[in-house]
Amino acid sequence: MTAFNELGLAAPLLTALQRADYTTPTPIQSQAIPYVMAGHDLLGIAQTGTGKTAAFALPILHRLLTDRRPTPRGACRALVLAPTRELATQIADSFKTYGRQTGLRTTVIYGGVPKGRQIQALSQGVDVVVATPGRLLDLMGDKYIRLNQVEVLVLDEADHMLDLGFVIPIKKIAKELPASRQSLFFSATMPKEIASLAGALLRDPVKVSVAPPATTVERVAQSVMFVPQSEKRGVLARVLRQPHMVRTLVFARTKHGADRIVQHLAATGVNASAIHGNKSQGQRERALSDFRSGQVPVLVATDIAARGIDVDGVTHVINYDLPDVPDAYVHRIGRTARAGATGSAISLCDDTERGALKGIERHIRQKLPVAA
Ligand code: AMP
Repeated sequence: MTAFNELGLAAPLLTALQRADYTTPTPIQSQAIPYVMAGHDLLGIAQTGTGKTAAFALPILHRLLTDRRPTPRGACRALVLAPTRELATQIADSFKTYGRQTGLRTTVIYGGVPKGRQIQALSQGVDVVVATPGRLLDLMGDKYIRLNQVEVLVLDEADHMLDLGFVIPIKKIAKELPASRQSLFFSATMPKEIASLAGALLRDPVKVSVAPPATTVERVAQSVMFVPQSEKRGVLARVLRQPHMVRTLVFARTKHGADRIVQHLAATGVNASAIHGNKSQGQRERALSDFRSGQVPVLVATDIAARGIDVDGVTHVINYDLPDVPDAYVHRIGRTARAGATGSAISLCDDTERGALKGIERHIRQKLPVAA
């Protein structure tokens, strides 16, 4: 297996990796980094948890560092597009962590907050911009950012971009980019629309594929409990009170459902918080940091809010409601098997959800054992 120092990365990046305790590149990193460093376009089939962020952030930082030049105000040299503000923030944090010793500047742009600070950061000239598509288009329209200096474009979690309706905004953004750029495209799955978007954005890409869904599925010990809807709350509280449930992510179908679960758990003495689209950015960040620090051991999330949540050490995922789409099931349980870790997933299934369960079992090609 390759070591980081065999990849030819600049010394400040290697130091940052040492500090972050990364000893060995993950498969997506050892496969993708050499091609990206050689200037190729890349089509990466990889899901969150595979280390894909470093797979693009490290070679981008290397390129910016070794060919250093000032960026004019309101421009950037690398542009990363991400579907959610949580993911955008995490990607920007990764750039900052790996680039700590380099003096390169990263800024993050997303909607739902005032524009002032983002405009100010852009006006000073930055090297890397990580953005959600809507706010980026907004700031482009107001001429606070222009993309004519972009050397590298990254599109992350392209399949989630599609789910959230971002394909047209992405095409609009792409029109403003120099044709001579390098483009890197990551997606966990490759539905037709995404393959065609990749075709439009990439030139002669190298294809790298790691950890197809089945791999995550294999690492997670899964089970199902058949529970009538009316008894789910009680069963959940009982399961969560077991001492080995150190850090548990509970998935609910709706925002209100998530809130109701948190209230019920509080009434039974289980400390939990909810994260979903109706929460303010401050509330979401607090819920995440309490969960990360272990102060609150249970986080109840909707599928959309959970996308891009990067928390290591999730020991259990509980599907309070089964997702209708089998892919969402794989995404959910993948939260507990990040960067090679293993974990457990329990699904609470009532009679009306048996069809969804069948669909999931077909998709993952296994029958879920029934938990005692
Ligand atoms: P990602 O798939 O980029 O969201 O990364 C998943 C998690 O793996 C993050 O918490 C990273 O900090 C961590 N990670 C990424 N690359 C490595 C590595 N080479 N060694 C150890 N941890 C890593």
